[in-house]
Parts: sequence; C-alpha cells; structure tokens
Amino acid sequence: MLVAQPARSDADLHWLHEAIKLSRYCPPSATAFSVGAVLIAADGSVLSTGFSRESDPGDHAEELALARIGFPGQGVPSFAGPGYGAPGSGRVANLEGATLYSSLEPCAARASRPTPCADLIIASGIGRVVIAWREPPIFVPGGGAVRLRQAGLAVKVIPELASAARAVNAHLLS
Ligand SMILES: [Zn+2]
Repeated sequence: MLVAQPARSDADLHWLHEAIKLSRYCPPSATAFSVGAVLIAADGSVLSTGFSRESDPGDHAEELALARIGFPGQGVPSFAGPGYGAPGSGRVANLEGATLYSSLEPCAARASRPTPCADLIIASGIGRVVIAWREPPIFVPGGGAVRLRQAGLAVKVIPELASAARAVNAHLLS
C-alpha cells in the first residue's frame, strides 16, 4: 500500500523543477556541468538559490546557495550577486529541517575548489537533499549521494526529471 505524502511529493517536484530551470542560466562550459540548486526551509519558504559559475567560473550551484546564507566554502569569492538569500543577511541557525534541491547529485570530489559540495552540505546541517540526476563519472568520480547518506542525510532521487537535468549538459555527454 502506498504511503500518502502528496504535499511533500508535489513540493519536491515543484522545487526540483525550479532547480533545473536555474541550471539553464549557467554560463556555458565545455569542462563542467550546468547545475541549479534551491534551498527550502522547513516552513516551505525559499532560503537561497545558486547555479554553476554564477559569480565565478569555479562556482558550484549548491556551494553558492550555502554561501548566500552564511556557509561559504573555502575559496568562494565574497558573494554579491542577485537572487534569494542576500549576503550578510545572517547565517541561518538551523538547517536541519531544510531541503536542498539540486538538478545534479552534489559532488564528492571536484577540481575547482578544495571542498566538495557534499561535505559543505553535511557541515551546514541540512537534513534532506533531493536530486534529479546522478553525477556521471566524466570529470571526477560521482558518489555524493552515498556520502550524504552515510552522514545521516535523507537523499531522494526523482528520476522522472533526470532527462530535463541532463538536457542542458548534452554537449558534455556525447
Ligand atoms: Zn559541487
């Protein structure tokens, strides 16, 4: 018998779709994925957003969403871009009930900066991550979802949206 959780399920589809829409704003790259991320508070409000290379060529989407609310990773330039989550608006105290939506599985290894997004997410205290697409091992090995789960986070994959998340990256996959 199915467990009825229509509200959360609808919200997951909605916000993951918003993350995929953000990925379409990424400056094009021949060597990195285009990814969008949206961070939603426990009460359903938007805390922050981010997309790849939004303010610097080394930016990852999840990293920027976290930097905007006071969790900057190592090497992230001081951030002053537009969007949700004004810099300096203060560190969000408790992210345990928050959900991070990302069009791609958060990285467990990366070339651009020292700290992978999976580790930034774990350190922030976010309790739940929803993704559309598992990272294919083209540039670095994948594995962010496994690392998140090992750290006790809930990770949900919505494969119905994977093709939409892949489409903006088609040039990297041929
Ligand atoms: Zn990353």
